[in-house]
Amino acid sequence: MEMDRAEMEKRKQMVLDMCTCKSCPSFVECGEEGGFCFVTIGKSGCISEEKGCICGGCPVYEKMGLSKMYYCLRGSEKEQT
Ligand code: SF4
Ligand code: SF4
Repeated sequence: MEMDRAEMEKRKQMVLDMCTCKSCPSFVECGEEGGFCFVTIGKSGCISEEKGCICGGCPVYEKMGLSKMYYCLRGSEKEQT
């Protein structure tokens, strides 16, 4: 069954709260909050270079069973699967 909108919003907020992208060498400060792995967020509009990815050490990575990298450039887990 499709997750309802309120549940999606709750999950998105949880991801943003735990996201470590802002400490990543690839991160570019332009007002984005991170959470690029999440399906309703996806790619960054301002990060353009792969200078390392610290997603593997993020609490969201384990909690959501993620397996990819560079969500900011390559798209959400779903997009990359
Ligand atoms: S896995 Fe990566 S993109 Fe997703 S919340 Fe963590 S640091 Fe951000
Ligand atoms: S998705 Fe990965 S590469 Fe992109 S900013 Fe977040 S930690 Fe860095």
